[in-house]
Parts: sequence; structure tokens; C-alpha cells
Amino acid sequence: MQTKYLQFNSDDLNLAGELIRQGELVAFPTETVYGLGANAFDEAAIKSIYVAKGRPSDNPLIVHVWNESQIYDVAREISDDAKKMIEHMPACLTIVLPKKDTVPDCVTAGLDTVAIRMPRSVEAREFLRNAQVPVAAPSANLSGRPSPTTWQCVKEDMDGRIAAILCGEACDVGIESTVLDLSHGEPKILRPGAFTPEVIERILGKPVEIITNPKSKVNSPGVRYKHYAPKVPMVLDLTDDYEKLCAYYDQKVREGYNPVLLVHHPFRYGKRHAVSMGMDANDVARGLYERLRYLETRYDFIIASFCNEENTLYGGEIGIGIVDRLKKAAGGNII
Ligand code: AMP
Ligand code: MG
Repeated sequence: MQTKYLQFNSDDLNLAGELIRQGELVAFPTETVYGLGANAFDEAAIKSIYVAKGRPSDNPLIVHVWNESQIYDVAREISDDAKKMIEHMPACLTIVLPKKDTVPDCVTAGLDTVAIRMPRSVEAREFLRNAQVPVAAPSANLSGRPSPTTWQCVKEDMDGRIAAILCGEACDVGIESTVLDLSHGEPKILRPGAFTPEVIERILGKPVEIITNPKSKVNSPGVRYKHYAPKVPMVLDLTDDYEKLCAYYDQKVREGYNPVLLVHHPFRYGKRHAVSMGMDANDVARGLYERLRYLETRYDFIIASFCNEENTLYGGEIGIGIVDRLKKAAGGNII
């Protein structure tokens, strides 16, 4: 299949919408990461998402909507908490609600709930408006790889596998949306992101649990899988301990590796290869996946360090989301 590279003009946006309605796959930018979209009501199209990504079929997709009325097309019940959150959309927030029967089971991996997001990026909204149907979309990467935050990263993974890529801007947020389960019982954060627990608690007027051990509660099946991983081995330090990082690096060199440090202050490390994690927490999130994709082409071992202590440059609640992604990228290997 020859992948079309589409621009943000009215002809190409029309074509992107037509392709979706014909059951094809179109990758598109959002403020978080690039998505791989298909008509949420078209079972065959949804199944081709799992094939193109190599995604396990028990990992459900997020349904992307353009406006509030499309939320009512896919959700069976909208609680008062859900209504409060919907007032703050569009946002980098996904809410999980009881699903309507019209949503095929392959979208939700057989669950009785559906994850819904209304992205705020202008480009994503233009695409969804042209699609005229809710669009189910996971991140537009091969399963397990770092999510794409530029169209060039989508091309790396998806060229020849999908009908079209809408070539928009680089993603501004850089890590995936916050997933908030409002389907039953008390609200729970299933995946941390830029829409922070603090803001959710303020909107709902009550505490919100963050599910940190998904193995015990299989609420969000996707979080079980290997995720966001570069092609080379990676370990994670959460203390920013200079001596420890140097010793670890030197040991890897002795073992014959060509390692790189991905750290807060690269200039500290002298002749060792060191790259900046980012200028502040938002910058870390924005650049994280692209840095991992870049480093795996230059080095054969990544030693990442991220310190989310309060009062550091890197503090802030998006740090919870960053630590979550880094731990998964490192396959849980914390040093
Ligand atoms: P991705 O599309 O790769 O960003 O992953 C989507 C995330 O949303 C995964 O972690 C899923 O487990 C989660 N998700 C999607 N649908 C549901 C649902 N119905 N209930 C709970 N989590 C969901
Ligand atoms: Mg993903």
C-alpha cells in the first residue's frame, strides 16, 4: 500500500474524511501524540488498526469525538461527574463511560465501557470535523514503541501500512492523555497525563484515586503491556544522583556498550555522552519520545534520570505522567 502524505488544506482534509468513511486508516496529529484513526462504527476498519500496529486485540482504543453530541452517540450513560468533566473539554483528557451497543466490541476489547476523548488541537479538530463520525484511534506507532509526536515518526513506523498520514505540527504536550474512569463507583485515574489529578479533584470536588498497580485491578487493559520502549536497553534512575549515574555509565562502558545518559544537567558529565532530558517538566514531556527514538539510533544503552521531587526544576504534576512513561520505557528497570 502506498501511504499518502496529506497537508492541512481543504482538499486534503476532505480526502482524509472520505478515507475514514471508506474504512481506511488515517494518522493525524493531536496535542498529545499522533493517533491512528478509523471510523469507530466500522468493525473491519477497527480490526485493521490492530493489524497495522501489531496491537494485542485485548487492548481497547480511545474514541475521538469532535463535539459533545458525538459523546452521546457512543456513551450509554453520562453521570454528573462525567458532565462536569465534559464542560472542560476539549482537553488532553479521556473519560471512560458505559458504552452504547452501537460501538463494536473490537473498539473496546469486549469491555462494557468506552474511552472517549475530545482533543483540543485545532488540527485534530479539523480532521474530526471532516471525518463526520467518531474516530477510534490508538497512538500511531508499532505496538510497544515510543508514541510518535511528529509526522516523521509516524512515517518511520507506518509508511506502507496505512492509507494516509496528515502531516501537521509536532505535538505540544508529548505524552498521552490522562485516562479517567467515570464508568462506575468513584472516579479513578487509570493513566496519568497532562490533565493533572489536582485539576480533576478541583472540578469534581472530591479526591480521585490514581491506580498505580494495574496488575491488581485490570481496569485499563492497555497498561499491562510493554510500552514506549526504545529498541536498545534502557534503565531509569529517579534520584538524579551524579555519583551513581557516573558509576553505572562507566560499568556499561567496561561491559562493551556505547551508553548515553539522558539527564537533567548533561554538562556535568564531562566526556561521557550525555543528552538533556529537557528544560522543564513540560519540555521533558514534549520531547521525550522523540529523544528516545533519536538516542536508539546513536547509542546501544540508555541511562535515563528523572527526579520528580517537589521544588526541583522538574517538579509539577505532569511529572507523575512522565515517571509512568519512563518506567514503562525502561521495562521497570530502576537503578
Ligand atoms: P493508546 O491508544 O495506545 O494511547 O492506549 C489507550 C489507553 O486507553 C489504554 O491504556 C487503554 O487500556 C485505555 N482504555 C481504552 N479503552 C478503555 C476502557 N474502555 N476502559 C479502560 N481503559 C481503556
Ligand atoms: Mg499507545
